Amino acid sequence: MKDKSILRSEVLHVESNCPHCDSKINAYACMEEDAHPKEGDFNICVYCTTVFKYGPDLSLVFVTDEDLEDVSEDELPRRKENGRVVADFEKMGVILHEESF
Ligand SMILES: [Zn+2]
Repeated sequence: MKDKSILRSEVLHVESNCPHCDSKINAYACMEEDAHPKEGDFNICVYCTTVFKYGPDLSLVFVTDEDLEDVSEDELPRRKENGRVVADFEKMGVILHEESF
């Protein structure tokens, strides 16, 4: 199991908008040292909890069920909400506070 105490935040060199809520995404947090987003990586919008993946040029695109076939619920607790995949922060034990943003 990965050490979840490692959570680093970095500013992205490109800006994209969440494909669901249109919030500007210009930073990321990761749980591994020296990890940087690349095409195909998953991420979660902290504003609306939508799970998305990085496309070419780090654009953000919705995930499909096929994208998540090999990702277990332990790795990424999630549920469907109105046809889109959202992260289940409650199962992750994460509590989002408005001041976090
Ligand atoms: Zn969003």
